[in-house]
Amino acid sequence: MYTKVMELNYWGSTTAKSAQYDEKTGEWTVVVERDGKEVVLRPKQLVLATGMSGKANVPTVEGQEIFKGEQQHSSQHPGPDAYAGKKVVVIGSNNSAHDICAALWEAGADVTMLQRSSTHIVKSDSLMEIGLGDLYSERAVQGGMTTRKADLIFASLPYRIMHEFQIPIYDKIREKDADFYAALEKAGFMLDFGDDDSGLFMKYLRRGSGYYIDVGACDLVIDGSIKLKSGVDVSHLTENAVVLKDGTELPADLVVYATGYGSMNGWAADLISREVADKVGKCWGLGSNTTKDPGPWEGEQRNMWKPTQQEALWFHGGNLHQSRHYSQYLSLQLKARQVGIDTPIYGMTKPQHLS
Ligand SMILES: Cc1cc2nc3c(=O)[nH]c(=O)nc-3n(C[C@H](O)[C@H](O)[C@H](O)COP(=O)(O)OP(=O)(O)OC[C@H]3O[C@@H](n4cnc5c(N)ncnc54)[C@H](O)[C@@H]3O)c2cc1C
Repeated sequence: MYTKVMELNYWGSTTAKSAQYDEKTGEWTVVVERDGKEVVLRPKQLVLATGMSGKANVPTVEGQEIFKGEQQHSSQHPGPDAYAGKKVVVIGSNNSAHDICAALWEAGADVTMLQRSSTHIVKSDSLMEIGLGDLYSERAVQGGMTTRKADLIFASLPYRIMHEFQIPIYDKIREKDADFYAALEKAGFMLDFGDDDSGLFMKYLRRGSGYYIDVGACDLVIDGSIKLKSGVDVSHLTENAVVLKDGTELPADLVVYATGYGSMNGWAADLISREVADKVGKCWGLGSNTTKDPGPWEGEQRNMWKPTQQEALWFHGGNLHQSRHYSQYLSLQLKARQVGIDTPIYGMTKPQHLS
């Protein structure tokens, strides 16, 4: 309905297979499969909006080939229904892991979550009330706020100082939910609030991982309904179990790799070439020199919504606020090129990291 109302030229059931750029003609050749038939498109600009949380990061674990049960990345998880009464090991302890564990437990599976390193947890209610309530809430709307205004205000704070505004929010949340955090730690869960205690949003902007917005799964960890093994890595798989480095053997019918997603330039490697993916470099992150966001400082999100080292190649992705807000700047940049407005690029950076 959205595509109809917005009069978008939308092709469903279509997969992009490959893309090549011709420097001389300034044109892409994009091969797509539409309803089983190959179609060649020749656009001037190519936007990869293939998901910032979409390029599955699947670890290699010794014994994967001999394990007789099912193995799937969290993005392939079909939902819990087929796993009632089954033993499931979920590797990872962030958003996907929690959501999948809770759903499996509700469906009657025996679930164990493996936590290798600490995770940032924030209760959804607290995040909405203390973190976002002034911008995105019924209260905000009553005070005259609109989504558009809220998006602009959110985007108006320079990344360089954003953490300074976030730290007090998480101090408050930690105080409010002190009993909850104590109970989680008592259950053996390893917590963090980011390298500088700036919480969820900075983790999201810097590394796009390392957190769970709690909508109930934490209570299941606290009361033991979801079993937890923390602080220990997987050693290998046997035919029917996951073996941890401390020797613990967890029998399993299903292993879910809730191990997150890779950088969006991985999509460029798949569709275009490794060479172009490396030329463009890592997407996302600010260069904050915190965990999983190596420096130097970038000042903006790497390669997102702006020109990249590959002419006529763009990346779009992120959460709903970013999609609403930054898609406007991306579309303006595309429009400017389409109508031939001069578009000099300020401070184009060289990629510092491959992916
Ligand atoms: C567990 C989890 C929880 C999240 N929670 C929130 C939240 O609460 N709020 C929020 O704002 N955001 C959240 N996000 C972020 C979320 O990813 C975005 O909000 C939103 O889904 C991103 O939309 P997108 O269109 O950029 O990417 P996606 O939804 O990932 O869409 C990418 C699309 O590209 C398609 N595609 C990929 N390759 C090809 C190809 N070769 N040819 C054709 N099509 C292709 C895929 O099939 C997919 O449909 C969450 C993400 C995860 C993983």
